[in-house]
Amino acid sequence: MPDSPHSAYPHIFEPLDLGFTRLKNRIIMGSMHTGLEEHRNGFERMAAFYAERAQGEVGLIVTGGVAPNRQGWVSPFSIKLTTSSEARKHQLITNAVHQHQGKIVMQILHAGRYGYHPLCVAPSRIKSPISKFTPRKMSQRGIRRTIKHYIRCAALAQEAGYDGVEIMGSEGYLINEFLVPHTNKRSDEWGGSYENRMRFALEIVSGIRQMAGPEFIIVYRLSMLDLVPNGSTWEEVVMLAKEIEKAGANIINTGIGWHEARVPTIATMVPNGGFSWVTARMKKEVSIPLITTNRINSPEQAEELLKSGAADMISMARPFLADAHLVAKAKSGPQHNINTCIGCNQACLDHLFSGKTASCLVNPRACHETLWNVQPSTTPKNVAVVGGGPAGMACASILAERGHQVTLFESAHTLGGQFRMACEIPGKQDFKETIRYFSRRLVESGAQVVTNKRVEATDLTAFDEVVLASGVTPRTPSIPGVDHEKVLSYPDVLLHKKPVGKRVAIIGAGGIGFDVAEFLLQQEHQEIPEFMAEWGVDMEYKNRGGLLDKPNVEAPPREIYLLQRSTGKPGGKLGKTTGWIHRASIRNHGVKTITGVEYLQISDDGIEIRYADKVDLLRVDNIVICAGQTSETSLTKGLKDLNINFHIIGGARLAGELDAKRAISEGMELGARI
Ligand code: FAD
Ligand code: NAP
Ligand code: SF4
Repeated sequence: MPDSPHSAYPHIFEPLDLGFTRLKNRIIMGSMHTGLEEHRNGFERMAAFYAERAQGEVGLIVTGGVAPNRQGWVSPFSIKLTTSSEARKHQLITNAVHQHQGKIVMQILHAGRYGYHPLCVAPSRIKSPISKFTPRKMSQRGIRRTIKHYIRCAALAQEAGYDGVEIMGSEGYLINEFLVPHTNKRSDEWGGSYENRMRFALEIVSGIRQMAGPEFIIVYRLSMLDLVPNGSTWEEVVMLAKEIEKAGANIINTGIGWHEARVPTIATMVPNGGFSWVTARMKKEVSIPLITTNRINSPEQAEELLKSGAADMISMARPFLADAHLVAKAKSGPQHNINTCIGCNQACLDHLFSGKTASCLVNPRACHETLWNVQPSTTPKNVAVVGGGPAGMACASILAERGHQVTLFESAHTLGGQFRMACEIPGKQDFKETIRYFSRRLVESGAQVVTNKRVEATDLTAFDEVVLASGVTPRTPSIPGVDHEKVLSYPDVLLHKKPVGKRVAIIGAGGIGFDVAEFLLQQEHQEIPEFMAEWGVDMEYKNRGGLLDKPNVEAPPREIYLLQRSTGKPGGKLGKTTGWIHRASIRNHGVKTITGVEYLQISDDGIEIRYADKVDLLRVDNIVICAGQTSETSLTKGLKDLNINFHIIGGARLAGELDAKRAISEGMELGARI
C-alpha cells in the first residue's frame, strides 16, 4: 500500500489504475434514477447534480439507467439513448463532470419484463409479480437486434463523452432474465444450458468492447445473489463473472436481489454492509476489480471493507444524495461532518415510485441544485428558534450560516425532538447520525444552542424574528380508564424505558405503532447472520437464488396486538418501498393486527374492544398509546398577546402527515428565506 496523504482512510484514497485510466479513489457513486432524466431542463439539472458530486471528489460516477431502445424503457417515454441528437444532450453532463476532474460512466439498462409499459419484452412470456404488463417473448431476430442496440447505445455514450458504460446485468432486468430458469424457459440457443443463458450477456459485453476499443471503461453489474426462487446457483454466478472478465469488462459491480425479491436489500433495517460477504466470496474467483455495495454509508465502513479485502471499490448511491461532498469530507478523517444517508428511502425511492423527482430527507437540496442556492443574508438579524427537533435544527443551522445571529432553544437536555425516539427503534440506529450532523453544523455555524430551557413568550421579546419549531405532543385518546397505570405513552417506552410486560396492546397502527411493535419484539439491532436467517437468505448459498428453504424467525419475546379504528390495511400509509418490510416483519413475529376497533375501556384486566360486531377483552399487561400527535402551540397565544410576529414550521405548524422529511425541508426553506 503506497503512503497516502489521508492516513485515516488509506485504502479509500489509494487510486485505482485501470491501465489506460486512473480513478482517484475507491469510492464510486452508484447508479440512481432521479426523475430528472425525463424532466424539462432535466439535462441542465442533471449536469449540476453530477458536477457537484464530481467536485466532491468521488472516484467514479454511474448515471441512472438509460435504455438502449424503446422496448427497454423503464416506463413510457423514459430516458433512452438511440440517436446522436440525444447524445448531444448528454454532453452537458459529461462536460460538467469533466470540468471538475471527475469521471462518469453511463448505465445502460434494458428493463425487460420490469418495463412498465405495453412494449416490454423478455426471454419468455412470463409476467413479473410487480408489473401489470405481460412481456412479449423476444424472437431470435429481436434478440440479435437488441444486442446491436446495446452496442449502439454504448457507441453513443462514447460520442457523448462518457468515460465508459455500466451494463446493468442485475436486479431482475432483461440481462438477468436471460440468465435464470425463473424467467428463461427458451429451448433455442438463448435458453436451456447455462452456456446458452449467458450468451446474451456475453455478446453484449464483447460487442461493446470490440466497438469501443480498449480505452473505455466497461463496468458489468452482475447479480451475485438473485434472492428469487429458481435464480442462479453460486457456481453459475462464478462462471458468469469469469466469462464477463474474458469478454472485456474492466470492473464487476455487485447486484443484490431482484426487485421482486421479498428480502430487504437496502432499507434502513439492513445491517450496514450486510451483503458484502457475497462480493468477498467472489474476490478469489476473478482478477479484475470488484465493487461491493448495499447499505454502506460511511467512510469508516468503506475503509474497513477495503482493508478486509472484501472488494476493490465501494459503491454508495443514496449517500451521495445525502451529501455530495462525502469523499472530500472524508479526507479530514473521523472528524468529518458527513450528512449520513439513513436508509429511509422516504425522499429518494418513495418519491420516484410516486412519480416525483428524487431528493433526500436529510438534504432536500439533492436533485434541486439549480433551484436552491442559499445566499448570505444582506440584513443580518437576531433570530430565536424555539425547538431543537429536525425542523428547528435545520432552520437554525442555515440561518446562522447565512450570517444571522441565532439562538436555538430546546426544552429537553439534548437536541433531536421526536427523532430521538426514532433512533431507539431496531434498525433505525443510523437516525442518530442526522442529529449528530445538524448538532455539529449548528456549532460550526456559530448558532447559540440553549438546552434545558423551555421558553415562554416573554423570553422572546428582544429578538428581531422568532421561529416556532416546537413540534408535536403525543395524543392521549379519551378512552375510559386511559389514566390506568397499565397505560404507557410511546415516549414512556422508547425514551423513559419504562418496563413493559409480556402481553401488550398497541393503540394506533401508524408508523410509530409499527415501530413500537418492532422495538418490543426485538430491542436490539440485528447482526448480519441473524438478519439473513430471519429473511431467508442462505449465507452458504446452497440453493438457487441464495434462499433458505424456510426463514428462521426467532420466537417473539412478547405477544402483541396492534389495533386501529379504521378498517384499511394496517401500515397502509407506510413508505411505498419500505411498508411491505414492516408489515412482513410484524406478521413473521406473530403480531395480531385488529382493524375496525372501538376502544371500550381499560381496566385491571386489560383493554376491552369491540370489532366485527363482538366485544373482546384483550388480557394484556400494558397498553401503549401510539395514537398520533397534536401540534405543540402553547406559545402562540403569549406571542400574539405580546404582539411578537413569528414564523411557524414543522409539527408546530401542522401535526397531520408530519414526518422528518417535511420538518427538515420546511426548516431549510424558511432558513434560506429570512
Ligand atoms: P419535534 O421533533 O417534535 O421537535 C420539537 C422540539 O421542540 C422538541 O425537542 C421539544 O422539546 C421542543 N420544544 C417544544 N416546545 C418548546 C419550548 N417552549 N421551548 C423549548 N423547546 C421546545 N419521521 C420520519 O420521517 N421517518 C421515520 O422513520 C420516523 N420514525 C419515527 C419513529 C418514532 C418512534 C417517532 C417518535 C417519530 C418518528 N418520525 C419519523 C417522526 C419525526 O421524528 C417527526 O416528524 C419530527 O421529529 C418532527 O419534527 P419537528 O421539529 O417538527 O418536531
Ligand atoms: P400516524 O401514522 O398518523 O398514525 C396514528 C395512528 O393513531 C393511526 O393508526 C390512527 O389510526 C390512530 N389514531 C389517531 N387518532 C386516534 C384517536 N383519537 N384514538 C385512537 N387512535 C387514534 O402517526 P404516528 O404513527 O404517530 O406517526 C407520526 C408520523 O411519524 C407519521 O406521519 C409518520 O410519517 C412518521 N413516521 C414514519 C415512519 C416511517 O417508517 N416512515 C415511522 C414512524 C413514524 P385510526 O384512526 O384508524 O385508529
Ligand atoms: Fe438516504 Fe433517506 Fe436521503 Fe434516501 S431520503 S438518500 S434513504 S437519507
